[in-house]
Amino acid sequence: MNFRLISIIIPSFNEASNIELIYEALVKEFVGVNYDYEILFINDGSTDDTLLRIKKLVLRTQKVKYISFTRNFGKELALLAGFQHVKGEAVIVMDADLQHPCALIHSFINGFEEGYHQVIAQRNRKGDSRFRSFISSLYYCIINKVVDVELRDGCGDFRLLSRKAVDALLMLNEGNRFSKGLFSWIGFNQKIIYYENVPRQNGKTKWSFTKLLNYGIDGVVSFNNRPLRICFYTGAFILLLSLVYIFINLFLIIRNGIAEPGYFTTISSILFLGGIQLLCLGVIGEYIGRIYYETKNRPHYLIEETNIKSGECYEGNRPRVYKIHRSGDY
Ligand code: UDP
Ligand code: MG
Repeated sequence: MNFRLISIIIPSFNEASNIELIYEALVKEFVGVNYDYEILFINDGSTDDTLLRIKKLVLRTQKVKYISFTRNFGKELALLAGFQHVKGEAVIVMDADLQHPCALIHSFINGFEEGYHQVIAQRNRKGDSRFRSFISSLYYCIINKVVDVELRDGCGDFRLLSRKAVDALLMLNEGNRFSKGLFSWIGFNQKIIYYENVPRQNGKTKWSFTKLLNYGIDGVVSFNNRPLRICFYTGAFILLLSLVYIFINLFLIIRNGIAEPGYFTTISSILFLGGIQLLCLGVIGEYIGRIYYETKNRPHYLIEETNIKSGECYEGNRPRVYKIHRSGDY
């Protein structure tokens, strides 16, 4: 019987202790399911035995595919590589650290069969510190006012996408990828599945506070020029205030003569305006930085080795991918 194929993409960065666990967990879930499956691990420049462990699985089964990057390019680009190299009719994205319960795959498949193009897992914040939960809800509150796609707290990359949705995603060829937003941008009908947050099995999270902060900023400036608009309006508002202040002072000077020069007013306005100007410059800089990177037109990632033969993966909409060929790798 010819089963329909589901692809699972797992970006992995220093996940040696999790590779076998996630593989075993996935195999169990596919027992008795009317779909064939392939598991694509993206080794994102791991410095531990991740690649070795993946290769061990490859020796055991043809269902395991891998792509190994020449260095760490980040999860977003690992996902892009995954989407560009899977052939499934539906594609599931999940983390290697078992934080995404494999048992949800059945609900994903049900959603897919019901005709949904995106079946999204939404976690609660159980186990997260109160501070982190507060910052996250604040962030989502702000970002949803700034960007024009809807971002939901707790909805991450753990989801199933139909082939149509994956093809749509592949048309968005930017290098600076904010997947959460891109998933939302492509639209399509969506089904949400709720699940309880699970702590990481082994290893530690790769998200430091600064990485999270940068990710947050990426989210804000990746989608539109609204932050630039906000700078414009802030500038206009301050200009208006200053004009009012100047006219009032001018009026007082004309009426009462020049009063004692105000040290406090001078210093505070210099500091305040200086701060606003630097902030606005920063926002403009973010956009220029993005233009700079996109105009370089570099490949988004480099593949050092893979067991996917060229021509075997989906070829439509495939942007520039450069592979470092080493004899014997293919
Ligand atoms: N990951 C990756 N490249 C990176 C950072 C992370 O491929 O540069 C992978 C990581 O191996 C894991 C997933 O992305 O499978 C999520 O990472 P992590 O668990 O550290 O994030 P968190 O769950 O804390 O958001
Ligand atoms: Mg994790």
